[in-house]
Amino acid sequence: MTIKFKCPKCGNTRVEEVMVNVTVSSEIKPDATYHGEDLVDLSYGEQTNEGGEVDRYQCQECGWVLGGDAKQLMAFLLKNKMVEFDDDDGFPD
Ligand SMILES: [Zn+2]
Repeated sequence: MTIKFKCPKCGNTRVEEVMVNVTVSSEIKPDATYHGEDLVDLSYGEQTNEGGEVDRYQCQECGWVLGGDAKQLMAFLLKNKMVEFDDDDGFPD
């Protein structure tokens, strides 16, 4: 299926998932810039996220909330005809 979201508030078409209680680990690359004293610009490499839970789905632009979990997200999208189903989507009997 294809999600065709359009924010009712601002018209933006991108949805984002907001997670809480996530532990983010980032690789520190060797090429840091030293500015003296305690000031250093670090350069980041690969990033991994661990744990966490979905807090909400929202408009990426204005933060308008679609729902608190994937079920609510789908319910909103279906109600507002913001999904298109493809031939290879499986429908349960
Ligand atoms: Zn919006």
